Amino acid sequence: MSNFIVSARKYRPQRFQDVVGQGHVAGTLKNALASDHVAHAFLFTGPRGVGKTTCARILAKILNCENRTPEYEACNECSSCKSFNDSASFNIIELDAASNNSVEHIRALTEQVRFQPQQGKYKVFIIDEVHMLSNQAFNAFLKTLEEPPPYAIFILATTEKHKIIPTILSRCQIFDFRRITIADMVLQLQDICQKEGIEAEGDALHIIAQKADGAMRDALSIFDRITSGAGKKITYEAVIENLNVLDYDYFFKITDALLAEDSAALMNQFDEILRKGFDPEVFVLGLAEHLRNVLVCKDKATLALLEVGESLRERYRTQAAITPASFLLTALNLCNDCDINFKMARYKRLHVEMALLKMCHIGRAVKGADLEKKTLDQTVAGELQFAHTKWQRKHSQWQWKLCHAKRCQQSFRADTISNVQPSYRTDRCPESSISHKRQCPTPLRGCLG
Ligand SMILES: [Zn+2]
Repeated sequence: MSNFIVSARKYRPQRFQDVVGQGHVAGTLKNALASDHVAHAFLFTGPRGVGKTTCARILAKILNCENRTPEYEACNECSSCKSFNDSASFNIIELDAASNNSVEHIRALTEQVRFQPQQGKYKVFIIDEVHMLSNQAFNAFLKTLEEPPPYAIFILATTEKHKIIPTILSRCQIFDFRRITIADMVLQLQDICQKEGIEAEGDALHIIAQKADGAMRDALSIFDRITSGAGKKITYEAVIENLNVLDYDYFFKITDALLAEDSAALMNQFDEILRKGFDPEVFVLGLAEHLRNVLVCKDKATLALLEVGESLRERYRTQAAITPASFLLTALNLCNDCDINFKMARYKRLHVEMALLKMCHIGRAVKGADLEKKTLDQTVAGELQFAHTKWQRKHSQWQWKLCHAKRCQQSFRADTISNVQPSYRTDRCPESSISHKRQCPTPLRGCLG
């Protein structure tokens, strides 16, 4: 018989301080323990694999521990803790509501509530997947849940809070468990690697954490799967091979080809990805994520949003430095459109290729738009100039007439041409706001004659 234990069980946290990413729950529960204000019913809700059942068991153990530590953790040494750790405690009753969801099962449970604990202070009932209980079972449970004997504590755990009837919800203290962040998961995996004497590349652990999608249990099962194949050394290549993840390298190359407007390289890269057996949709999503990562690298303030290993981080930074933000935004937009319309497209490959080619020509499209704008500017300027000249012409005509009349007058008064001074006039063109200081043209000979 093999004595291999999966990591999710082997490294199941025994204390609140070991639980990853649920500090808010642990903190509140510890405060309740410290002030001795422990509720009689709890509802732990949150996504799968984030530590709901683990926290329920830890709380059950602490409640019955004979000498809790000053941090309100279980001692793991007293007889209660030991029997609990050996799964031999009578004070903790676990019910899987997924398979025990009828009224009879709940009735059997409430029967057990009637008996006081043989040892310890509390009898803790943990009901997992509680949303699976039938309506009748919920109703049969209501009375016990509302007014249990002082030694009974119920901890309900569920992934789907919305399926639980309000009458149950209102009788419980509700704790929302969070998805575990990639950074937290990587730290935990690194810790396990150290304990197991496994050498792992940072990027490899990042991929595992990403693939686990916020669930520590998933991360640990992936980790087990990879270590069983790769042994004591986990490399990035082994992980992407094992998990059938598209290598980041492809996305870097594709972005380079897009920036260089090299459509041939682009099509060949995409073809290579398809020949490796990847789905075009996976590729589109991967490319969108890559472009988003490059975009968050453009600004120091958003750099923290980049969830990749250290060596990849540097590559992202380098690519972000040469990629214009306007390009990224347009490309992301195209990726998004491609993703939205993907299901409707009948020729999926062409659909993605079209999107890639459009992205490839973003630079040219932007330049074209600039040129168009310039031409438009020129046209506007030309029209203004034209209007201005027209006005000038009219103006000088008018001025000349004025001047001519003056000279005629003066010539009658002084009878000499030397008295005639050239007249100046400053005027503002109404259409171009340019000022003119103009001199009158020499009067026509005929008028002085
Ligand atoms: Zn103890």
